[in-house]
Amino acid sequence: GAVVELPSETRVITVSNQKGGVGKTTTAVNLAASLADLGARVLVIDLDPQGNASTALSIPHSADVPSIYDVLIDEFPLSEIIQTSPESPLLTCAPSTIHLAGAEIELVTQVAREHRLRTALDDHLSVLDEPPHFVIIDCPPSLGLLTINAFTAAQEVLIPIQCEYYALEGLSQLLGNVRMIQKHLNPRLHVSTILLTMYDGRTRLAQQVAEEVRSHFSREVLDTVIPRSVRVSEAPSFGQTVIAYDGQSAGALAYREAAVEIMQRGTDDTPEKAS
Ligand code: ADP
Ligand code: MG
Repeated sequence: GAVVELPSETRVITVSNQKGGVGKTTTAVNLAASLADLGARVLVIDLDPQGNASTALSIPHSADVPSIYDVLIDEFPLSEIIQTSPESPLLTCAPSTIHLAGAEIELVTQVAREHRLRTALDDHLSVLDEPPHFVIIDCPPSLGLLTINAFTAAQEVLIPIQCEYYALEGLSQLLGNVRMIQKHLNPRLHVSTILLTMYDGRTRLAQQVAEEVRSHFSREVLDTVIPRSVRVSEAPSFGQTVIAYDGQSAGALAYREAAVEIMQRGTDDTPEKAS
């Protein structure tokens, strides 16, 4: 099989697209589980008030659980809220709770409101003997302050694109926001990866969307596409990633392949690390 090398520095990847239902959360958790399967230490930060990533990783996240809300608003250290997924000791999660729904508004009046996740993550990583190889941030479907916090904390943006009509709608707005953050808040930020999700190769439309995305973003789009698969959509209701739920299913194999590609490519900043 492919030779993969763990990154020597933590790669912080934010999974973002302001459209809902394009596969952000599914990608965040299944990629995280696949990376952990390859031997990487992975931290998933659930930044969506819906808490779907926490649920999929079987992480308790009822209202009384310390969560990313407490980190962003009350400056709890990340180490106090991180939990380990039952799927793997390498797979950890900073859960979201329903309180996060108010954070978008509460952050507006906070000091350094765009930097709060970045500061918390830097503080956390700097004291660890064995920091995670990957931090994967699952964003809410909006371009508000929670997503801005993710963009400010990350180096890489991973954009899942659903292979359907209107797939590219809103993409220019998203890329515009990334450029704005690059310019004003985080010069390291770049779109490293685009992943085609829910691909149904039997339809001409899916093929056309895939071709169009590849023609615009030949460098960013992964070779691997994620097929539409019932197993992928079933897994969260069992509190599992598809990697644990049905590791040999087409969806699981595709996410594993995507993880290998992401490891092999390295960051765009440091292509020498990719080989
Ligand atoms: P987002 O986080 O962007 O809102 P989700 O990851 O929650 O999107 O996915 C939206 C819905 O599509 C969910 O019900 C999820 O189970 C389903 N889904 C995502 N990826 C696939 C796939 N490859 N095959 C089948 N269903 C999928
Ligand atoms: Mg989601």
